[in-house]
Amino acid sequence: MEEMCELFYRDPYIRSFSATVVSCIEHKGAWLTVLDDTAFYPEGGGQEADHGTINGIEVFDVHRKDGKIVHYMKEPVEAGMDLECRIDWDRRFDHMQNHTGEHIVSGLIHKEFGYDNVGFHMGKEIIQIDFNGPLTWDDLMGIELKANQIVMNDVPLHIWCPDKEELDQIDFRSKKELNGTVRLVEVAEADLCACCGTHVASTGEIGLIKILSVAKYKNGVRVEMVSGNRALNLMRKVYNNNRAISASLSAEMLKTAEAVEKTKQESQKKDQLIGSLQSQLLEYRLASFETDQDFLLDEEENMDRVAMIHMAGRMLDEKRTEVAAVLSKQMDGYAYFICSKTVNLAALSKQLNTQLNGRGGGRPDNIQGFFQSDIQTIREVFVKTFTKA
Ligand SMILES: [Zn+2]
Repeated sequence: MEEMCELFYRDPYIRSFSATVVSCIEHKGAWLTVLDDTAFYPEGGGQEADHGTINGIEVFDVHRKDGKIVHYMKEPVEAGMDLECRIDWDRRFDHMQNHTGEHIVSGLIHKEFGYDNVGFHMGKEIIQIDFNGPLTWDDLMGIELKANQIVMNDVPLHIWCPDKEELDQIDFRSKKELNGTVRLVEVAEADLCACCGTHVASTGEIGLIKILSVAKYKNGVRVEMVSGNRALNLMRKVYNNNRAISASLSAEMLKTAEAVEKTKQESQKKDQLIGSLQSQLLEYRLASFETDQDFLLDEEENMDRVAMIHMAGRMLDEKRTEVAAVLSKQMDGYAYFICSKTVNLAALSKQLNTQLNGRGGGRPDNIQGFFQSDIQTIREVFVKTFTKA
């Protein structure tokens, strides 16, 4: 079978076909099958391989090797057998929609900005294209409008393999130096590109082209996009998500971003207020403690670790206590931070944890952790441990 003449090129819309097995050999647990002709597209040109079945046996990968199309199967078939082959059409049509959508976007960017598509990856979710020049989000929104206009105009694709003489006269996009037969794919007003992939017959079949993101990449940008059913499904999800935000914030659908920003600002104001109330509370607490004690115990509710350390430090410095302990009440006990300039706390840590069903530890001048115990018991243990004789 000569290159560019396989069934998937002659009839890209064929979903099932009969073929004869030329060979089938085992390799690393897969059965590698060559047919006399095939509609299974092999991975190449950024497009993933077709999946499907041959005689009901799963085909999970397809590659071109030494000019032959090799089907990777889970079970063997016999050479000479005539078989029924079936393409996973949803998967293939999705590739055709997305591949053609990519051509239109790359072609329009090339026309308008002169940049080349220098990298193309068709993932399961999104399509990534790299361009060798800068583009802004607004640039891409303009390209997206034009691309969808071409979809709506339902422009038929023109695909052909010109001879050398004709080829020399044509200006087309190409990612690499091409040898041998060159296959050109043209979308009038948008693109003319050398490509070995499968495409839709007419742009209307793409349905929708959506640009998703643009980010600096190497010397240019990486653009993410989706086309066809993928684009429709994604836009439905995004719409439903926005609908839920709109209901939750009682905001109009087109004003949800504004409403989220307002909510964020209100939340920041509340954080500031909580911070200032907490520091006022600490001042009152601190003022209530006696000075020059063997130990001081401060009990708080859900205090964060930074505030606990701050409070304990001030108890030590301003109240000149030997040992300062801050406890923060949690669900089933107390988080603790204990510090001292004179008592070796690391040496007492194990004993405290044993008596108070705790965990944690630290250095001679401070220990921290969690006591799964009640406040009375903690207080009693502290009195025994820290009160000087
Ligand atoms: Zn293509």
